[in-house]
This record gives sequence, structure tokens and C-alpha cells, in this order.
Amino acid sequence: MRSGAPFDVLVVGSGAAGLAAAVSAERSGARVGIATKTTLQACNSAKAQGGIQAAFGEDDSPEIHAEDVMRSSHETANPGLVEVMTSEAPPAIHWLEELGVEFTRSNGGYRLARCGGATRHRLLQVGDRTGHAITKALRDSYEAGVGAELPHHALRALASSDGGWIASFETKEGPVDVETATVVLAAGGRCFAEAETRGELSTNHPNATGEVTRIALDAGAETRDLDALQYHPNGGAWPSTMQGYSIPETTRAYGAVLLNADGDEFTDSLGPRDAVSQAIFDEVEKGEGVLTPDGRPAVWLDTTRITPEDAEISLPYMLRRYRGAGIDPLSEPIYTYPVLHYQNGGLVIDEHAETTLEGVFACGEIAGGTHGRNRMMGNSLLECAVFGRRAGKAAAGKAQL
Ligand SMILES: Cc1cc2nc3c(=O)[nH]c(=O)nc-3n(C[C@H](O)[C@H](O)[C@H](O)COP(=O)(O)OP(=O)(O)OC[C@H]3O[C@@H](n4cnc5c(N)ncnc54)[C@H](O)[C@@H]3O)c2cc1C
Repeated sequence: MRSGAPFDVLVVGSGAAGLAAAVSAERSGARVGIATKTTLQACNSAKAQGGIQAAFGEDDSPEIHAEDVMRSSHETANPGLVEVMTSEAPPAIHWLEELGVEFTRSNGGYRLARCGGATRHRLLQVGDRTGHAITKALRDSYEAGVGAELPHHALRALASSDGGWIASFETKEGPVDVETATVVLAAGGRCFAEAETRGELSTNHPNATGEVTRIALDAGAETRDLDALQYHPNGGAWPSTMQGYSIPETTRAYGAVLLNADGDEFTDSLGPRDAVSQAIFDEVEKGEGVLTPDGRPAVWLDTTRITPEDAEISLPYMLRRYRGAGIDPLSEPIYTYPVLHYQNGGLVIDEHAETTLEGVFACGEIAGGTHGRNRMMGNSLLECAVFGRRAGKAAAGKAQL
């Protein structure tokens, strides 16, 4: 039976996970609202460049994908969640295509790259604006329906009520309480705030501040691996306009390698993210790194090994950004250093994305378990699509019981 609340499903956050949940809840017949801190467009998801993993290669399978995830996580991921994510990856890609995402194709199939920690070519791309393409398609789809939009609603508290949950927001007009049968928390991670505290650079959007995780904790939710933050191995280190930019991992998938001051390859450039970042930190610590013109530590990413054809198809945005800043990555190597990027852990969820609080669901970067303590590239957008869809459907189902 529906509660008397205005919404069956209230989604908090408008990145890929929140939008996927909102679209899926609406398609399940629920009365949906999506509340978000600033505009619907503002999120980390839209900044994602590299791509999204799904086992489409002839030599690949969801089981091999799952093995790669478990190994990259150092066996810390939740195998049940991993199985859901990898087995639902191909259908999630087809769902995104139905909504209008056009993945880059070559030779009659998807253009698949091999990303760090993967044993197969599995990374689908939309040029190097994959996150932008996915969020736009999801947003267009949600906006074509009848769901409500609550921009400039920053969640401040969550409390249970007779009919479900009351979400308290700060808005431009002051505090507002919204009643809902179920909630989907999709407010992302905290790496922007964490980097500010540490005095470091981050790839993240300024809205990635993590207070919704704390709100859920205050309401009694459980978390896991919250201390496990991920460095992106390849932050831009120079020129200054590229500092904090995440150089797509697909540069390395298409042949770029990491070099020290002597021009030696000091690590497997396609190793798991934590291993590659640590190798760079160690190389610099040993005095084998280089200094940027403004004195920052760095190593070289030799992007001159990427063919112009691969660069044009899969790295056009990155090329434009660097060339605009006066550096051509196809003619000279670029400075790079790890940069704070991703919150690996988060709220504990089950296979339907429900947290340990009944009627409160979580998906995307705010949730923990799918990546354990070390995420592979391309599995975050995938997690958003798979568990966002699941969360929306399950929340709608619970609200309509
Ligand atoms: C530069 C960059 C490149 C990346 N590249 C890739 C890639 O190639 N492949 C991949 O798989 N992953 C990539 N990632 C990671 C991936 O994009 C993100 O982890 C993922 O998109 C997170 O999605 P999300 O929906 O959980 O959160 P977000 O997209 O961060 O969205 C969170 C939403 O919650 C809102 N919000 C925050 N706090 C509140 C609040 N208090 N109240 C209301 N709303 C709130 C925010 O405004 C935002 O709308 C990249 C990340 C970055 C930053």
C-alpha cells in the first residue's frame, strides 16, 4: 500500500547512479523525486572520461570480469555484489543504448580497450566523454517523464517516520522537509573535501563532500572500507591549468607508459590502480622522479607512443585540453603524479542496493562492497548503471507493497 507521502521514491543526488535510479523507479510506476545539492548537471559522473567495463569480447565473460575485480580488490570486494555487477553489465550497456548512448564502435563491434588490472579488452567508450554521454542520456530520459526535480536541495538529515522517511534539506528559501516512502542515496563520494583537508589536488567536482554518508551513519546505517580512498595514478601535473585533471587511463590502454627521470619504465603501466600509484610515489621518493616547472613532484607519461588514429578516436578531449594549454601529448611526454580520486568504500548494501536501514537504498560511489578497497577503472560508471537501476526498481517495489 502506498504511504501518504508525496513520493514513493526520493532520490538524493543527480550523478549517473541517482539518475539511473530515478529513471528505473519511474519506469516501475513509482512517484519519483530527485533532489540534488545544486543543479541536476553538477556531479562527478559527467567528468568521467575513460569508459565503462562490460564483458563483450569473444575471449571474455562476466566470470572473467568478476575474477579481475576480485583480484584488483585484493579479494576484499563482496563476491555477491561483484557477480551482480559483472553479469548485468552487458544488459546495462544495452539499456543505456536504448536511452540514447552511442558507444564508439570499430570493426563491426564495440571499440574495447584493456584497462588497468584487466586481463581482457573490456572497456567501452564514448570517445573520451563517456560520463558526459551517459549522464546526458539518463537526464534526458528522466526529464521526458513526470518525475519531480528538486535542484538546490542539499540533504541535511534523514529520519524515519510512520510512512517511511523524512528527508530534511537546506534550500535557497530555507529548510524544507520532504516525506517519502523510500529513499535512494546517490550523493557520491568525498574526495573533493578530503583533498582540501589534506592540501592536495583532486579530480573531483566540488559537490563531492561526503556529508550524506555521515547523515546515513547518524540515522544508523552501516559502512565498510570508508578509510580506503583511491589515488588516480595519472593526475595532470603540468601545465598549471591541467593540475588535478585526470589523464584518462585509456592513454595507457592505447600504449602510453610511465617513465622515470632516466627514461626507464619502472612499473607495469597497466597494473591495478593502487599498485601503479604506489610505484609512482616510490619512484619519486627514491629520487628517480622529475620536477614540474613549478617544482611539483612528477614522473613522465610517454604519450608519444599512442598512435594518432587511436588518439583521435579515443582521446580527442584530452588532446584538445593539452593542445589548448600549449602541449601536444603526441609529440612530447607529459608530467603526471597521482591525485585523490575515488572513495572505494561506503554504505553497506545488499544485492538490491538496500542499506542496513529498511527503505533506504544506496548506489554509486556512496555505496561500498562492489570494489572492496581498490576499484578498477571503468567499474564505477558500471556500478552506477547496474545498482542505480536495481535501487530504483527495488525502492519502487518496496514503496508500492
Ligand atoms: C575526473 C573523473 C574521471 C572519472 N573517470 C571514470 C571512468 O572513466 N570510468 C568510471 O567508471 N569511473 C570514472 N570516474 C568515477 C565515476 O565517474 C564516479 O565515481 C561516479 O560517476 C560517481 O557517480 P555517483 O552518481 O555515485 O556520484 P556523482 O556523480 O558524484 O553524483 C553525486 C550527486 O550527489 C549530489 N550531492 C552531493 N551531496 C549532496 C547533498 N548533501 N544533498 C543532495 N545532493 C548531494 C551531487 O551534487 C551530485 O549530483 C571518474 C571520476 C572523475 C572525478
